[in-house]
Amino acid sequence: MRGAVMYGPGDVRVDERDEPRILEPTDAIIRISAACVCGSDLWPYRGVEDMQWPAPMGHEYAGIVEEVGDDVQTVTPGQFVVGSFWATDNTCEICRAGYQSACVDRVPMGMLGAQAERLRVPLADGTLVATPDLPSDELIPSLLSASDVLGTGWFGAVAAEAGPGKTVAVVGDGAVGLLAVLAAKQLGAERIIAMSRHASRQRLAREFGATDIVEARGDDGVAAIKELTDGLGAHSVVEAVGTQQSMDQAIHAVRPGGHVGFVGVAHGVVIDGMDLFWSLAHVHGGPAPVRRFLPELIELIWNRKIEPGRVFDVELPLDDAADGYRAMDQREAIKVLLRP
Ligand SMILES: [Zn+2]
Repeated sequence: MRGAVMYGPGDVRVDERDEPRILEPTDAIIRISAACVCGSDLWPYRGVEDMQWPAPMGHEYAGIVEEVGDDVQTVTPGQFVVGSFWATDNTCEICRAGYQSACVDRVPMGMLGAQAERLRVPLADGTLVATPDLPSDELIPSLLSASDVLGTGWFGAVAAEAGPGKTVAVVGDGAVGLLAVLAAKQLGAERIIAMSRHASRQRLAREFGATDIVEARGDDGVAAIKELTDGLGAHSVVEAVGTQQSMDQAIHAVRPGGHVGFVGVAHGVVIDGMDLFWSLAHVHGGPAPVRRFLPELIELIWNRKIEPGRVFDVELPLDDAADGYRAMDQREAIKVLLRP
C-alpha cells in the first residue's frame, strides 16, 4: 500500500509500505478515507524534534473498518470510524477518569503511520467510535478533525474552563487555536478573543465565534487583552502553540483565579516559578484526551451543529503529501487534508 514516510527534516516521500494486518485480537484494520498533516508533524519536518528515520507519518484518521480481531466487540467491518491519536483501552483507571491520552496501555498512532491507504488500530474497542451511518462526503473533513485538532482545541477550552459568562482568549491561530475558538463558543463563552495577525485566519476565527481579534504579540498582546477586560485579564486562556512566547502570553493574560488550558506541544518552554506564583492561575493541559470527547463531537458534527472541517483549506491526493508538508511549513495552508 502507499503511505507517507519522513526520511529526515524536509524530506517526505510517499512510498510502498507493508500492508497492515491484525497482530492482536483487539486490533482493527481500517481503510483510510481521509488523513491529514498535523502542526506537530512540522516539529520533525523542521528538524526541531529528532526521530528515528525513516518514519511512517500521520496520526489523524477516519475511515472504514475492513477487518477486526476476534476480541473486538464494538466496531464491525463496513462501519465508518474515527479514532484518536492515541490507541487506548478506555477501561483503565486513568481512562475512566477521562485522561485517555495517559492510558496505561496507550499506543501512539503516529508510529503506525495514518497518512496511508490502510491503518492498523490497536485496542479498537477503546479507540474507535463509529458514526451512526456512512457519512456523506462533505462530512468527512469535519469527522477527521475530531481525531485530533478539534478534540485538542476542545480540551484546551475545557481545561481553560471556557463557559457561560467567561471571556476566553486563544493564543495561536493554527487549526487547534481556531477550533478552540469554536469550542469556547459551543461551551457558551460570552466573549472570545482570538490572537492572530493573518487576515484569512482572523476571518475563520470570527466565523467560529470570535468576538474580538488581537494582532499584537508578547507584552503588547497581553496589554491588549487586559485593555479588553477592564485591566483584569481573561477568565480563560487557551495556549495552542507550544513556544516560550505563547506560554508566557497565556500565563500573563489570565486573571487571578482564572484558568490556562495549554495544548501546544511545548518545545523549550520554561515556566518561571515566581511568574506562576503571582499569577494565581490554574494551569492545566497536555496531550488531549480526545477519546473523552469523541462521541459528543461526532454527534455535533453529524447533526451539523458545528463544521470544524472548515480548517482544511487545502486538499491533496496522498501521493502529493510532500506538497502538503511544504504548504503547512510555509504557512500557505492552515491544514492539509490528504485523500488516499
Ligand atoms: Zn486506559
